[in-house]
Amino acid sequence: VMIKIEKLVRQMDVSQPSRTPNSLELDNISVFEWIQQAATTHAVCAMFPRVVNTILGKSSKEVSMLYFIWYARNGDTLKRLMDVMNGAQERKFVGGSAQISQRMAEKIGLGSVVKLDSPVGIIDQDNDPNNVCVTCRDGTQYIAKHAIAAFPPSFYKHIQWKPELPTEKLNVSHKYSMGHFIKTAMYYKTAWWREKGLNGQIWDPEGPILYTLDDCSSPCVPASQQGDQARCSSPEHPALMGFLVADDAKDWSKKTRLDRQNAIALQYAKLFKCQEALDYIEYVEHDWNAEEFIGGGCVDIPKIGSFADTSVHLRCPFGKVHFAGTELACEWAGYMDGAISSGERAADEVLRELNPICDASPRHVTAGRNMHQIIPAKSARPNAVEKVLAWAFDLCVSKSEGMRFKSS
Ligand SMILES: Cc1cc2nc3c(=O)[nH]c(=O)nc-3n(C[C@H](O)[C@H](O)[C@H](O)COP(=O)(O)OP(=O)(O)OC[C@H]3O[C@@H](n4cnc5c(N)ncnc54)[C@H](O)[C@@H]3O)c2cc1C
Repeated sequence: VMIKIEKLVRQMDVSQPSRTPNSLELDNISVFEWIQQAATTHAVCAMFPRVVNTILGKSSKEVSMLYFIWYARNGDTLKRLMDVMNGAQERKFVGGSAQISQRMAEKIGLGSVVKLDSPVGIIDQDNDPNNVCVTCRDGTQYIAKHAIAAFPPSFYKHIQWKPELPTEKLNVSHKYSMGHFIKTAMYYKTAWWREKGLNGQIWDPEGPILYTLDDCSSPCVPASQQGDQARCSSPEHPALMGFLVADDAKDWSKKTRLDRQNAIALQYAKLFKCQEALDYIEYVEHDWNAEEFIGGGCVDIPKIGSFADTSVHLRCPFGKVHFAGTELACEWAGYMDGAISSGERAADEVLRELNPICDASPRHVTAGRNMHQIIPAKSARPNAVEKVLAWAFDLCVSKSEGMRFKSS
């Protein structure tokens, strides 16, 4: 099944999915149905839908095959999306990734330029043909030559647009919805799994937690490289991070926090065959679908049958409003990297409109107002997250060892 999928992934035209061979057919079949036809064993039919849950936080019955292979192509291959080493889960930020936004906000001007707790209610281009007027729900207004809307497509419909958003974009907004993710962390006095030579990783289709990662604040050194056994077995804040996803997240969100933490501790004790799993000292969880302005995780996903013809409308500007957000990326859509590259593309569009002669060649995938052709992203450029990190943390991009990454 993986070989068949990777073959489709290689054929995907990531900037224009409708050009992919059999795009309509693939868009009108769910991953679930496709797997039932492609797999030859019951085990794969039962297990593969959980891969979709892991990556997208949605039921495989709700995701079209075209979107799934597009998403995989965005991350290069399906294997890379699933992998830790050289894959989507390879690196973590010491201290957490929220620091990127916090440091950037401080640099740009927290409070003066970056306004928090100010949800936008109205985006008006009717009143003044030269400017966009953005009105927050508290009535505060901002007037600018251009605006960039960098929230997920399913949120477009919550904004009052003047004039009305074009039908194609509004339709897209109605056809997208977020996956379901509850992120949990179980803290322990010691990293007992490391002491037993385990890496803390499970993938359990039976649930409730679908997968875990070791979330200790210091990396676990592979046995082959261990010169410092003590550091490996006694990290600060030993923790197992686990995800409740898709339908499990929906179901478990209706239960109490105590129900969830008890069930998770029992699951870990059973899977790791270790009673220490029951002796946690702290349990932390966050239901991303309870966040009004985030809506879920990890990404906004189109309904079956609506990706082939709608995706092209996502990146088109609407008057002086430009659109960004990870869903609109053509590399690592659904990830922080995609969020940054799509933001750069939207900023490029604005800069070229403000100063048309300064740079005629766009650096990133774009669908400017007068451009009918989408230009593929350049691949040989620094990782987008690394570039932003370098700027926010005053680091040199080429010195990756200077960055405060740790391996998973
Ligand atoms: C549980 C979970 C785990 C994840 N793990 C990873 C990972 O390991 N690696 C990785 O790269 N990515 C991961 N992601 C995905 C990553 O968080 C997203 O790809 C990234 O945050 C998308 O950035 P964005 O700027 O496009 O959108 P967001 O980060 O969603 O930003 C959109 C912003 O718009 C704001 N907004 C919405 N409506 C309005 C309004 N009306 N007015 C004003 N503001 C508004 C929201 O408050 C929000 O701040 C994870 C996501 C989740 C939920």
